[in-house]
Amino acid sequence: MKKKNLAILGSTGSIGTQALDVVRAFADRFEVSVISAYNSAELLIQQALEFKPKVVVIINESNYTTVKEALAHTDIQVTAGAEALVEAVQLEEIDVVLNAIVGSAGLRPTVRAIEKGKDIALANKETLVVSGELVMDLVKKHGVRMLPVDSEHSAIFQCLVGEPSPIEKIYLTASGGPFRGWDRGRLENVTKESALKHPNWSMGAKITIDSASLMNKGLEVIEAKWLFDLDIEQIDVVVHPQSVIHSIVQFQDGSMKAQMGLPDMKLPIQYALTYPERYKNNFRRFDFLEYANLTFEKPDLDTFRNLKLAFQSLREGGNRCCVMNAANEVAVEAFLHDEISFLGMSDVIEETLCHIKNTNNLNLDDYIAVDLESRKVARDLINKFKLKN
Ligand code: NAD
Ligand code: MG
Repeated sequence: MKKKNLAILGSTGSIGTQALDVVRAFADRFEVSVISAYNSAELLIQQALEFKPKVVVIINESNYTTVKEALAHTDIQVTAGAEALVEAVQLEEIDVVLNAIVGSAGLRPTVRAIEKGKDIALANKETLVVSGELVMDLVKKHGVRMLPVDSEHSAIFQCLVGEPSPIEKIYLTASGGPFRGWDRGRLENVTKESALKHPNWSMGAKITIDSASLMNKGLEVIEAKWLFDLDIEQIDVVVHPQSVIHSIVQFQDGSMKAQMGLPDMKLPIQYALTYPERYKNNFRRFDFLEYANLTFEKPDLDTFRNLKLAFQSLREGGNRCCVMNAANEVAVEAFLHDEISFLGMSDVIEETLCHIKNTNNLNLDDYIAVDLESRKVARDLINKFKLKN
């Protein structure tokens, strides 16, 4: 059987390394032609030596020489920079591009891969937050598959297999993060260390902060809207602290399907890579007696304003989700550098949205320009805020 050929973008991250675990477990089914990282030269080199891809891309050009020299004795091609990654996804032999980059930097490689007829396994939700309509139009136009890796979206996707009837509603489950049930007073002084401790998942820093602030669920609402072509009214968020039910679809007859399992990203990663098949693996199996109680709560949108901002941005359309996403990326970075407080992140996003006028009918370059401008505005706001304090 011909092996499925993969490009794994962001191979050194949380999703990227778990994707390579899946590839390693099914070495007879997959091969990897491209891997990439922003900064982590050492891990990237190690991965290159193990998986022997055709091309290795290091985004931060100052690490180029290190990677190039370490792989000089091999026939692996080493390239550097964001443009090199957009080039690399075009390779003829690639069947599926797994995008595990964090942030809006994932947008251009996704778009180019779709244009070149590659199926996409998408972890990089920011691609759909920034310009979901444009990306899904391209998916249709080029007849490729958009396979969700995000656990909630994989759950919905799995519930829809074999269902010809439309969706009435979806319920995205949210763990609620480490500060579930807290009020604003308690949230005022939370540290990055406590925000980085997620109760159920071990993930990259940005998505872990997004989970604590509920922005992650906001991004996922937007991601779901575009992936499954839904109206906002068809999307609900329910807090489910055990993270066992990964999401739920309700059909027109009132019947509901939920996808369950232990919280382990390797499962949705594997499904995206093997769809429509399921490969046998030895991941730990679920035990009902370990989870005697599955509980559900309403999210607190007044305390966790980011989720409200996401619904609002989606409702308003135009450039709003792109602006919100860019401001959030800058705000999270600033929070991680102790420049702003946990609650200050929502202030930065809200202010950035106020500073930038809404615009419609954007093309890819327009979205990239809005993303850049929003980052600059958010950065200036943070600098001003720092001077005030
Ligand atoms: P991470 O920070 O662990 O890894 C990010 C990867 O992207 C690294 O390989 C890094 O080198 C690369 N990268 C960073 N900045 C880049 C840039 N500007 N250009 C190109 N590459 C860059 O992040 P992660 O937790 O693996 O998350 C990756 C994506 O998957 C995010 O969009 C996240 O929301 C999504 N996701 C992650 C999880 C999870 O469990 N980690 C679950 C669901 C969805
Ligand atoms: Mg998720």
